[in-house]
Amino acid sequence: HAKSGGRRGERFFTSEMEAQLESRRALEADLRKAIHSEEFELHYQPLYDMAERRICGFEALLRWNHPTRGRIAPMEFIPLAEEVGLIVEIGRWVLRRACLDAATWPDGIKVAVNVSAIQFTSGDLMDDVSKALALSQLSPGRLEIEITESVLMENRDEVLPILHALRQRGIRISMDDFGTGYSSLSYLSSFPFDKIKIDKSFVNDIVDNKEAFAIMRAIILLGDALGMRVTVEGVESEQQHDLLAQEACDEIQGYHISSPRPAFDVPQLLARSRPTGKVRAM
Ligand code: C2E
Ligand code: MG
Ligand code: MG
Ligand code: MG
Repeated sequence: HAKSGGRRGERFFTSEMEAQLESRRALEADLRKAIHSEEFELHYQPLYDMAERRICGFEALLRWNHPTRGRIAPMEFIPLAEEVGLIVEIGRWVLRRACLDAATWPDGIKVAVNVSAIQFTSGDLMDDVSKALALSQLSPGRLEIEITESVLMENRDEVLPILHALRQRGIRISMDDFGTGYSSLSYLSSFPFDKIKIDKSFVNDIVDNKEAFAIMRAIILLGDALGMRVTVEGVESEQQHDLLAQEACDEIQGYHISSPRPAFDVPQLLARSRPTGKVRAM
């Protein structure tokens, strides 16, 4: 609709772009203050062990409670935080908070933390992790680091040694959103991940669509054959759960088990997760 407006149209788009830039600058300024103003919060989503039929860990998911705009989803501010370098400081806070919270959970319950590429390349991830573990006294075996393949893709030579060092310390590495990139398979053979998390886009149609189920099944078998734990993300229904229970799927995560909840709810989620019954979404 730019054509009909002529000069007026151009001005319209210019001011719209200016407004966008301005709101981005405002968001960036707010983001800089957010850590010290204690506006960040971690929510925890259960990882459900299929064989044991109970919760075996939680993924930490960042929430920003903005003073005037309310809760902002990670996809709306993490890309910006990465662009302006703030993700290093935010990521350090996330690691610390997650380890401190996990240290209060029963032994054996793990915590999974998402880490951005920038934390590997411009921060000192090893040092951040070591400090978080020392402060919390959490055993390294209870910490899982989740990375997406874009982390490896762009900075392979820098990232691989850090991943090896993390594993040397007993920390587990998961490949997140598996299957969404275009080079997933080659990365699987060049680095021994402890776990792959199959992206939620693959689970959607497995109940109604034979081809979708065949693809899911093949990815699970691949991960299993390579000796990795396999988690399926985005499980929302009982039927999906039941189908996956017949496969070599080690863990599921999704609204069917529970949505991400505040740290306060973790004990209750664990209490409701018994080997015989299923945890209901809440
Ligand atoms: P992710 O690591 O793949 O996390 C899973 C996302 O799927 C979460 O979105 C979760 O709320 C959502 N989810 C869980 N179960 C279901 C389900 O059954 N159905 C559907 N449709 N979605 C489900 P969320 O919390 O909005 O986070 C989005 C992404 O933001 C994460 O994807 C992760 O890449 C990033 N992120 C979150 N927290 C952090 C963090 O602390 N650091 C970094 N670097 N990235 C983070
Ligand atoms: Mg993740
Ligand atoms: Mg994911
Ligand atoms: Mg297996």
